[in-house]
Amino acid sequence: MNIILISADTLKAKTLETEKNNIPNIEFLRKNGFEFKNHYVSSPWTGASFASFFTGVYPKEHGFILNCPKLKNVSKLSFAKKNKPVFFQAFKHNCENYFTKILRKSHYCIGIQGNEMCYKDSFGKYFHEYLIFFQNPNLMKKIFLFSKKIKLFSFLMKIKKIKDKLLLKLFNKKKIEWASSIPANTLVNNAVKKIKANKNKDFFLWINFMDMHTPYLDLYNLSNKSEYKTINITKSELLDLRYNLKNKLSETEKKFVIEKYNSSIRAIDKQIGKIINCLKKNSLFDKTTIIFTSDHGEEFWEHGTQRDDIYFYNRGIDHGHTVYNELIKVPLFLFNSSFGSKKINKLSSSVNFYNTVFELAGIKKDSELPVSLMDIALNKKEMDYVIAECLLLGKETKTIIDKKNFKLIKGTENSRLELYDLNTDPDEKKDISKENPKKVQELMDKLYFHI
Ligand SMILES: [Zn+2]
Repeated sequence: MNIILISADTLKAKTLETEKNNIPNIEFLRKNGFEFKNHYVSSPWTGASFASFFTGVYPKEHGFILNCPKLKNVSKLSFAKKNKPVFFQAFKHNCENYFTKILRKSHYCIGIQGNEMCYKDSFGKYFHEYLIFFQNPNLMKKIFLFSKKIKLFSFLMKIKKIKDKLLLKLFNKKKIEWASSIPANTLVNNAVKKIKANKNKDFFLWINFMDMHTPYLDLYNLSNKSEYKTINITKSELLDLRYNLKNKLSETEKKFVIEKYNSSIRAIDKQIGKIINCLKKNSLFDKTTIIFTSDHGEEFWEHGTQRDDIYFYNRGIDHGHTVYNELIKVPLFLFNSSFGSKKINKLSSSVNFYNTVFELAGIKKDSELPVSLMDIALNKKEMDYVIAECLLLGKETKTIIDKKNFKLIKGTENSRLELYDLNTDPDEKKDISKENPKKVQELMDKLYFHI
């Protein structure tokens, strides 16, 4: 059995609802496969989230993190306690526990990567071939080497206030275009070549598209629409928006930015169509399982406008800075022509991928790691709760969601506590923590157990 993991970096669950009439290929996978309707990533940013796919554990345990302090007043011994998180711990991460290390023995592993955060020495380590497509190759490696070489820099990075300013300066430099994405068609043209070349082997192919990420590739020339004719936001300004709160937008400008983001999924959809055709033409369609998902979502002011009250990273746009659902609830479809279609309302998480890949590949599952998505889909096992943690920016905040759809958000450095009933309040607008002390305690106990 071949496995193709297609991830649309930065795609939130809601976008597919808005765009469902424009994305026939993704809709095909959704309607004819297993649709996981309550799927959450383990962290709201790329590195920490994808590392959970590959290891089957939450960020605090796999260590591909930048910032993950423990909750206050927790006495249990924890990984975080034993391994004090430091800046760019992510780069010390050794990837020894990635499923690709085992999978590569039975499957030819090919990576087609659009995100520079997933660099070759980490995520690509156990792939047979790992092609990276972005405009500033080795940027992450350069930053890492710089931070390692210059002791003063590393020292300053440990002082929170200075670290924030340095990060702002580093990523705000216009010449370092953090997310200089390459469009989906380039990635897929290469993926198709690799599929054809390896059609007689069992293979695992991972394609990660960056079209949904800032600066939101505008392939549909939305700026030509009469409504947006007067708007002139450059690519640099869009990147700048992520870090610069002084850059305020009008309501029409905001709408324009959101539309740019939403429409990017259409470009990805077209390319997914090419992959499906390629599988059919090469008699691989019935031998391949396609997993479609994302590593995190994107905020567009769902929880406030550009917030400049505390820190620069408490902005209302981008990702990595909160654990609200616009950032952690993403689509997940698992398609195989022999599986049939099913809607799954049970909880699932990034940590369920590890055993899923093993199950699909015919490798013995790891009983110590979370259950596979197949087990969840076929009602054999389930997740009692899922967790998201280890922010990229801002004060560490963790969340836990239980199978009754209650969601607790807990800050680590202050008394921040929020509780939402996602059944009646899916947009997380009404904090009900004060009225439900028992539920808060129950979820706090579970979260502390995890810590
Ligand atoms: Zn990402």
